[in-house]
Amino acid sequence: MRRSEGPPGEDYPDIREGVRKVCAEFPAEYWRKLDRERGYPAEFVKALSAAGYLAALIPETYGGSGLPLAAAAAILEEIQFAGCNGAACHAQMYVMGALLRHGGEALKQKYLPDIAAGALRLQAFGVTEPDSGTDTSATKTVATRQGERYIVNGQKIWTSRAEHSDLMVLLARTAPRERAKKRSDGLSLFILDMREAKGRGLTIRPIRTMMNHSTTEVFFDNVAIPAENLVGEEGEGFRYILSGMNAERILIGAECVGDAKWFIAKAVEYARSRIVFDRPIGQNQGVQFPIAKAYAQMRAAELMVRQAALLFDSGAECGAEANMAKMLAAEASWAAAEACLQTHGGFGFAEEYDVERKFRETRLYQVAPISTNLILSHLAEHVLGLPRSY
Ligand SMILES: Cc1cc2nc3c(=O)[nH]c(=O)nc-3n(C[C@H](O)[C@H](O)[C@H](O)COP(=O)(O)OP(=O)(O)OC[C@H]3O[C@@H](n4cnc5c(N)ncnc54)[C@H](O)[C@@H]3O)c2cc1C
Repeated sequence: MRRSEGPPGEDYPDIREGVRKVCAEFPAEYWRKLDRERGYPAEFVKALSAAGYLAALIPETYGGSGLPLAAAAAILEEIQFAGCNGAACHAQMYVMGALLRHGGEALKQKYLPDIAAGALRLQAFGVTEPDSGTDTSATKTVATRQGERYIVNGQKIWTSRAEHSDLMVLLARTAPRERAKKRSDGLSLFILDMREAKGRGLTIRPIRTMMNHSTTEVFFDNVAIPAENLVGEEGEGFRYILSGMNAERILIGAECVGDAKWFIAKAVEYARSRIVFDRPIGQNQGVQFPIAKAYAQMRAAELMVRQAALLFDSGAECGAEANMAKMLAAEASWAAAEACLQTHGGFGFAEEYDVERKFRETRLYQVAPISTNLILSHLAEHVLGLPRSY
């Protein structure tokens, strides 16, 4: 697929062009080596920060670009389309909403200018626990108020990039679940400065996974957080992360669209050039059709991602669209990954073609940050009016 075949009126062409330029400095060999070593792309993240792309959503008053979510989606889509891995730094974009929309002015002044300048990394989001993945209301990590600070005890799991971030957005229980009116009440959101907490009760242990994702488990043993680092009001944390989750879903959807474009372009290139039985394999409909189908799926998902981003940016309710965008895009990227691998035959399994690496990477998005089943449950209950199933 040629770039000129992109959708008419492609949004943010200058931003896309700029992102491509940064990505061109980080070719496939760079990602292959990191994948082998399970290394973190610190240079890539630094380059994106220096170019200002990771501060896209931070308002200009705090030193960012004050761009809408649709622009952030274009940035992440291009990163993936270029064969790079936005998972190394996408959290800075999607956790931003909680701080921007619900954080007090003092908290924003404390952190946003340094984040915008690239001097402070906000890349970790600690929500999931060993016994609470899909069901966030089962969160057990507690934060107990003691004078001017909260003392945190408990454990998080799958806290990605914790080793490569200075700050963590942390969800913890400040009131027992039994006392809550609604099961999502009693949770609070904090900005934890991990530079202060490391060696003072905070322990981070990496988890090796099937792809290079720098994910970890994090243990809290009497970790102190200044009370001023509470985001918004105590007990409202679940509501705050829910509004941020729509942003997260839209941005992950955009990344999946970028992945799908990468797989489709790679498959088409190979199908044109690989000769079997004295003709290109791409001449066979059996090879063409899965690629063409994935292309159609990708274009449909792309429309939904854009629609969801537009609704988000206008301040309208976008829960259903954000969920559908994430689900359709994750399915499109997986269909494209499958078609690309199959088109490459045996070579699809060779590290040097990059297909197997991207194949492993894109599979995640049907499970995290929310699994397909839960998206379907959301649509069934909130859009179709069917009874709640859980
Ligand atoms: C590589 C990686 C990175 C991650 N990064 C982060 C991060 O940075 N921060 C963070 O907080 N979390 C992170 N996560 C966690 C991720 O969000 C969770 O894995 C996800 O929410 C699912 O939770 P779980 O793994 O506990 O699955 P479970 O909740 O145990 O669910 C298991 C399966 O059962 C299904 N299921 C459960 N309940 C129902 C139901 N009622 N109806 C139908 N199906 C159901 C689910 O769909 C799922 O397929 C990450 C996960 C991975 C693997």
